[in-house]
Amino acid sequence: MLLYYDPRFLDHETGSHPECAQRLREVIGHLDTEQSALDAQRPVWQPATDEQLNRVHAELVLRFLQDLADSGGGHADPDTVVSPVSVDVARLAAGALCDAVGRVLAGEDQRALCLVRPPGHHALADRVMGFCLFNNIAVAAEAALAGGLERVMIIDWDVHHGNGTQAIFYDDPRVGFFSVHRWPFYPGTGDVDETGIGDGLGATRNLPVKFGTSRDDYRALVLRELEDFADRIKPQLVLVSAGFDGHREDPIGSLGLETEDFVWLTQATTQIADSYSDGRLVSTLEGGYNPPILAECVATHLKHLRIN
Ligand SMILES: [Zn+2]
Repeated sequence: MLLYYDPRFLDHETGSHPECAQRLREVIGHLDTEQSALDAQRPVWQPATDEQLNRVHAELVLRFLQDLADSGGGHADPDTVVSPVSVDVARLAAGALCDAVGRVLAGEDQRALCLVRPPGHHALADRVMGFCLFNNIAVAAEAALAGGLERVMIIDWDVHHGNGTQAIFYDDPRVGFFSVHRWPFYPGTGDVDETGIGDGLGATRNLPVKFGTSRDDYRALVLRELEDFADRIKPQLVLVSAGFDGHREDPIGSLGLETEDFVWLTQATTQIADSYSDGRLVSTLEGGYNPPILAECVATHLKHLRIN
């Protein structure tokens, strides 16, 4: 198991914003006492390069963000705060996923978990959005394709729809995007009829879930659709946008999930990886805004990502 985190992720300073350093501080504090974290390898890695970021993001975005950071920071969009070091931190986050993909494809390990911030799945190719600067998971998928893979599958169970990830690969048959999310809800996309376009038609699958849906119904829906979709995509690598804001005690998302729901969610993704991808799976942190609950969910996720 490869485990990525770094105290520099705490330097992305957002003030009283819900996507705050305390989230990761709590996660890291909790993992310090977890055997599954102590047993994991902790690679040293480099920030994402311009080349890696430019596979997804317009040069304009990189320049806009760097200029904003260099001028002391501010709001990059109404929801998204940038501090003077935020772009460096965001590069480190995206770089963690690229490094994880490289090591997993090289056979160094089958599984990796990247505990990074800022999160990424709302970031569009040409615009930051919803607490996200760079779309980390999209940069990782592109890194995998650049590394020679032909089919990658992204599973996104954050309570919000991963609109950025969807948009980036909407016409790309090589990247299957599977998202289960609360709907209608922020950011407004992710209806069931959004299935891709052109060559990418059928390579996007959305499971919009209404507030108040029972945990049993949620589980049955995800398991049925995930298996069906994986069989269609036949991924050579599984990437997971692991958000934990669907937890019942999350102040932003809440879809009524309990911590133990992240056990079967994790197992479902590792089973897909085992069936199609030689076990290869890279997971990354997206949302989750109740720090102690987030820490508990991440520890649960890590524990069940390990190979049995
Ligand atoms: Zn979210």
